[in-house]
Amino acid sequence: MAQHNDTFRDFGLDIRLIRALDHQGLEHPTDIQQEAMPVVMAGFDLLASSKTGSGKTLAYLLPALQRLMKSRALSKRDPRALILAPTRELARQVYVQLRSLCGSHFNIALLLGGENFNDQLKTLRRQPDVIVATPGRLANHLDSRSLMLNGLELLILDEADRMLDLGFAPQLERIHQAADHRRRQTLMFSATLDHAEANAMAAKLLNAPKRVAIGEAHTEHKDIEQRFMLGDHLDHKQALLDHLLANEAYQQAIIFTATRADTERLAERLQQQGLTTTALHGDMSQAERNRIMDAFARSQYKVLITTDVASRGLDLLQVSLVINFDMPKQPEEYVHRIGRTGRAGASGAAISLVGPRDWDAFKRVEAFLQRNIRFSHIEGLQGKFKGLRPVRKAQSKPGGKKPAPYKGKKGQTPARAAAKPVSPKRPAGFTGGEGLGSADGSAPLKRKKPKPEQE
Ligand code: AMP
Repeated sequence: MAQHNDTFRDFGLDIRLIRALDHQGLEHPTDIQQEAMPVVMAGFDLLASSKTGSGKTLAYLLPALQRLMKSRALSKRDPRALILAPTRELARQVYVQLRSLCGSHFNIALLLGGENFNDQLKTLRRQPDVIVATPGRLANHLDSRSLMLNGLELLILDEADRMLDLGFAPQLERIHQAADHRRRQTLMFSATLDHAEANAMAAKLLNAPKRVAIGEAHTEHKDIEQRFMLGDHLDHKQALLDHLLANEAYQQAIIFTATRADTERLAERLQQQGLTTTALHGDMSQAERNRIMDAFARSQYKVLITTDVASRGLDLLQVSLVINFDMPKQPEEYVHRIGRTGRAGASGAAISLVGPRDWDAFKRVEAFLQRNIRFSHIEGLQGKFKGLRPVRKAQSKPGGKKPAPYKGKKGQTPARAAAKPVSPKRPAGFTGGEGLGSADGSAPLKRKKPKPEQE
């Protein structure tokens, strides 16, 4: 790295951008901004990894706006820059940051899935200079010929790995094809540069890119205290959750659950306990989701309960506690979830409740973090579940037995003790799933299979 810029002024940014940054009290660039901005300002394509909360949005918005301010549009009719983000919430947040930087200097538009198509046609008729969009809806506009991308100068893919995980590869290719890539600069941001599909997409979309890797996703979030607790079943997890919310010091908390139904159910339960709580999930209308996110950002709720739809890129500075009521299926998602706290140097805590159904996901997280995780306990709320021993080859065939519970000693890590012989019997507290035992003592209710959140 040849250049080191102490302040944003040292990059030679347009005075309007400097003023906007001053206004927001931003003076010193973060690592990703230090590394990525000179590359983008020199006109190179970029493939960058950066952990959540690192300041990556400004790392691309500032040089993008600088470029648009300093050069003439290739076409009066077409947008000059297009920013794609995997979720509506993230796209909205990028749009808000963009607006705060460029004021009324550029005509900017936000095109989200789930919002009124005809309203968006009207927006497009006003010929926006910059569009922030989710990929599905943008591709729909290309299909309906309401938008042309021939004059596109900058294509920016934020959280490209996540867009690919959500199945947006065809839309991304469609968008790439629609733009004249000979005159275009393309920037791709991803949580990690190890994502095979993202690398394949980069090979198609990027032209001799420079690579910048800052804080790959599996690096520790130093400012976040991570704790793990074992939970026997749903009732036990709820008791742990109640205790944590009553005893942890936090400004705002986000709780992640595996299913949409659980967000609603837990929100209702916490409201009854007097906590201002709201649920957020993909079954809600876009207007409702926007309203909830705005209200949460303005601290009208203390607790937000959500599925992974809100786990990426959201910039909620007041959140100092994240609770994984259920473990996420993918370890990368764990890193993104806990990245909702400890933003921009603030400290936070992330507490994960690990039940029998979470065990495999937990082991993946443990391997991903390259740590031997110890469980912490709450006095009086210790459960019986101590983990599951690894599945033996003979048991792993389809229809084979489920892994047996691990009955370790208190405080002993399952990983270390897994080699010891264990009884194949399930512990008394393990009901075969985390179904909610009904009040009348009938069989536990099984949860529905979680639906993935999509755009
Ligand atoms: P991001 O990673 O883009 O989601 O940004 C995370 C948070 O860091 C946002 O609240 C930004 O406003 C903040 N941020 C971005 N750049 C800086 C900076 N250079 N100095 C202080 N805070 C920043």
